[in-house]
Amino acid sequence: MDAVRIEDVIGEFVQLKKRGTNHIGCCPFHNEKTPSFSVSPTKGIYKCFGCGESGNVVGFLMKHEHYTYPEALKWLANKYNIEIEEEQLSQEQIERNNERDALFHVSEFAQKYFHNLLYEDEMGVAVGLSYFHSRGLSDNVIKDFGLGYSLDEWTAFTDYARKNGYSDNVLQKTGLTIFKEDGKCFDRFKGRVMFPIFSVSGRVLGFSGRILSKEKQAAKYVNSPDSEIYNKSHILYGLYQAKNAISRQDKVYLVEGNIDVISMYQSGVENTVASCGTSLTIEQVRLMRRYTKNVTVLYDGDKAGIKAAFRAVNMLFEEGMHVRVVLFPDGEDPDSYAQKYGSTRLQEFLKDNETNFVLFKTKVLIDDIKGDPIRKAEVLTEIVRTIALVPDLMERTEYVSQCASLLRISEQTLQNELAKELNRRLRATAAKPIATNDKDIQEIIPSGETSQQLVVPESTTTVINPAEFQERKIISLLLNQGNKVLEYETKDNDGNITVINYTIAQIIVGDILNDGLTFENSTYLAIFNEFVRRIERNETSFDMQFFVTHPDRDVRQIATSLMMEDYHISDKWIKKQIAVPTPDERLRNDLEESLLNFKLKKLDVKIDNIDRQFPYVSTDEDKLDLVSQKMHYLKLRRQIGSALNRVIV
Ligand SMILES: [Zn+2]
Repeated sequence: MDAVRIEDVIGEFVQLKKRGTNHIGCCPFHNEKTPSFSVSPTKGIYKCFGCGESGNVVGFLMKHEHYTYPEALKWLANKYNIEIEEEQLSQEQIERNNERDALFHVSEFAQKYFHNLLYEDEMGVAVGLSYFHSRGLSDNVIKDFGLGYSLDEWTAFTDYARKNGYSDNVLQKTGLTIFKEDGKCFDRFKGRVMFPIFSVSGRVLGFSGRILSKEKQAAKYVNSPDSEIYNKSHILYGLYQAKNAISRQDKVYLVEGNIDVISMYQSGVENTVASCGTSLTIEQVRLMRRYTKNVTVLYDGDKAGIKAAFRAVNMLFEEGMHVRVVLFPDGEDPDSYAQKYGSTRLQEFLKDNETNFVLFKTKVLIDDIKGDPIRKAEVLTEIVRTIALVPDLMERTEYVSQCASLLRISEQTLQNELAKELNRRLRATAAKPIATNDKDIQEIIPSGETSQQLVVPESTTTVINPAEFQERKIISLLLNQGNKVLEYETKDNDGNITVINYTIAQIIVGDILNDGLTFENSTYLAIFNEFVRRIERNETSFDMQFFVTHPDRDVRQIATSLMMEDYHISDKWIKKQIAVPTPDERLRNDLEESLLNFKLKKLDVKIDNIDRQFPYVSTDEDKLDLVSQKMHYLKLRRQIGSALNRVIV
């Protein structure tokens, strides 16, 4: 764990930017457009302030990559070149109970098998490898994409997998083998060149196989069926190979086919992905957006194809992406273009022909209507809808003027239509209920008003904890400064001065227990009690990671939030003192102030409760009792107030 840099690990999956001591990015666990996902290198933790996900680097890998704990450690060991000794897997271990694991295993096994055939099998070389070479792919690229060949025999792969201990169950679930009702089976990818599909972290999830023979009945491409590990609408082909280039260049090219991705990669345009044999899905767009907001869609010259793809582009806009397009000449696609003209001309072509999507769409649609006024109105509506999706106001204004001139209408007309559309969209979104799962925000809501309208004196239904802020501050001090040692001088009866060291945690716990106070918020109380237990066991230094990986989700989330918030020592104290205090003195003052405020707030609550009970007591005796209680608390309040150096009215 000492070797691990959390920002590097998470940076492989999320585009992070440095902000202050932390790194921030868009959360991979929920859908968001403005970053609220924060990574703290110094504390080794991450936290999303949007959805609350949090934890350390191992937790991240387990959550994000669906790794088991040992798998996450193995991944880290591999990244940092740390050797781990592992026992040879036994036959039983291979067929683990865990089905996911087994599916991952057999997919990786199959990928290696298909790839090796390309180079080690006579037919593999003659058919598979020569096909890839004929498409102009180099051996390096074949290796980078793990391409392979599946023999043109009914059960070549299935036999080999069975011999290596893989069960029919996993062969069926991954779809590598197709089982018929009569019990016979055959290889799904028989006689095909193989394109493995990788997860973002490089695990094999499934395959796409292209037929080479001219058999009319066989589909050109066959894909793995969706399984426990493979969901084609959540995967972008080539993202594993492209992700670093995408981040570096802050841009992604979206193409149609696997072979286009590989061709672009070989031509030096490494930041290219394709949707995996489906039309683009929202999940794929969100996956893309984790790496960049800039997407350029590459179209081949086929008109019907272009219009079919317009819908997908609207989705890109809706997810806040900046969309540009490149249209290839009639009959060409990225692969054919690269093969015909080479990589330099491909790159130049992309640069010279990249245009703005809104204008592109307008031109395509106008070309189509040939002056028909009714269809022109339809085009206008369609264009207005697209412009309305553009998030940036400046951009929108620019489109209005450009599209107006293309459509030969006045800017004002287009502007009016756009205003109507924006209004319509605004009302549509406003009607949606606002998500209320943001517990963190609810907890921070200031609770200044202590429910005067409550009639029942001792309310058990109060949701808002009046001491929330003060309780939070104390827990924050415990988590962030708890191990810090402060020196205290004490004088014994003979006047001898001795210096005693206390940790902040010891001081806080001792002080609060002494006064018999407690926490309203049950999660804070749980954290506080953990400190109490440890102090009772005479532990002087706590591992705060304990809370970050705590099994209770609320504890974990609150602890990480508080540890993520940069701890600031109140600077009110600086203003009051003439000499500039040392950091230690400031911490000491802050500690004292926080404890006093905590107590003050608890007293306020007690006094408040007394006031609310007053109308309900009938006997003079009870009234007197309440009054004397109140006097007692008011006196304490004044004492604390003067200690806090402020006037309590
Ligand atoms: Zn989140």
